Amino acid sequence: MPSQQEALVAALRERQCAASPVLHGGHALLLLGDDPGADTVSWLRKQPMVAEIKAARTPYVLAGRDLHPEDTVIQIGNAKVGGGQFALIAGPCSVESESQILTTAKALAKSGISILRAGAYKPRTSPYTFSGLKEKGLAYLAKAKAETGLPVVSEIVSPLDLSLFEDVDVIQVGAKNMQNYPLLQALGTLQKPVLLKRGYACTVDDLLMSAEYILAGGNTQVILCERGIRTFETQTRYTLDLSAVPVLKRLSHLPVVVDPSHAAGDRRIVPPLALAAVAAGADGVMIEVHDNPACALCDGAQAVTLEGFAALQRKLWQIRSIVTESEV
Ligand code: PEP
Ligand code: MN
Repeated sequence: MPSQQEALVAALRERQCAASPVLHGGHALLLLGDDPGADTVSWLRKQPMVAEIKAARTPYVLAGRDLHPEDTVIQIGNAKVGGGQFALIAGPCSVESESQILTTAKALAKSGISILRAGAYKPRTSPYTFSGLKEKGLAYLAKAKAETGLPVVSEIVSPLDLSLFEDVDVIQVGAKNMQNYPLLQALGTLQKPVLLKRGYACTVDDLLMSAEYILAGGNTQVILCERGIRTFETQTRYTLDLSAVPVLKRLSHLPVVVDPSHAAGDRRIVPPLALAAVAAGADGVMIEVHDNPACALCDGAQAVTLEGFAALQRKLWQIRSIVTESEV
């Protein structure tokens, strides 16, 4: 016996109209393909189970603002991101040892960060470089979370590892995996925040379509992250596309965070980019910090020192207060 929704989908198919059911924020939605035509729309209007028909102008129906004009605010531990709430995310590229992550986490907690970042699974370009402490890394990160009370964000590389991320408050999808659709679909089945980083050869629209994969599974908590794209410029590791911030915020209700560290590849360039990201209206910044960058196992050149971060965060809040003042 087909459900009412299945019957509706079948009836629409007979009318040459493709329809995909999705569950979103507790509502059953039926996404129709291209313009279904006036006849089908008026037929749909008469169906008892149809409460409302809305038009979306973009293919990222759930990530876009047409059906969801108000900003999404995501709660992460005691922190909130989006809708006027700013999150300061910082930590080392990778968990390297228990003492490294505990020292760093405690110092960053004193600097007033909102969320601690650190990777345990690192998808490295070279198979011969440090690829993270894996489960042990997640255990050390959980200890840092317990000792500081800070929520944590860490990168996942395979849907097979999902069960290991229970203690992780925000699951990061790295730039290299932004279009790993089975991974995005697996994350869509959770009710947990996902930090989705823009692939370095992907457009803003590509990023929004990847967010759509997660949202279409029913997970409403996606944070978008600009982290630099590949251009002809070689003085920086990537080129931070700051215009993506206001563009994404116009197109989407999802919070937008900027990672200046991977874009810069050089700690000297991180503070100005971070300040510029806040000025551009980002809902948060994510900065790589290391207690001894010269000895970092991953991304040492772009890691700011603990002292450097303490000075930077003060300026970030100053810029943030100017940005929010001008919104009043
Ligand atoms: C990271 O955040 O450490 C990372 C690997 O970033 P990206 O995926 O943006 O390269
Ligand atoms: Mn890194």
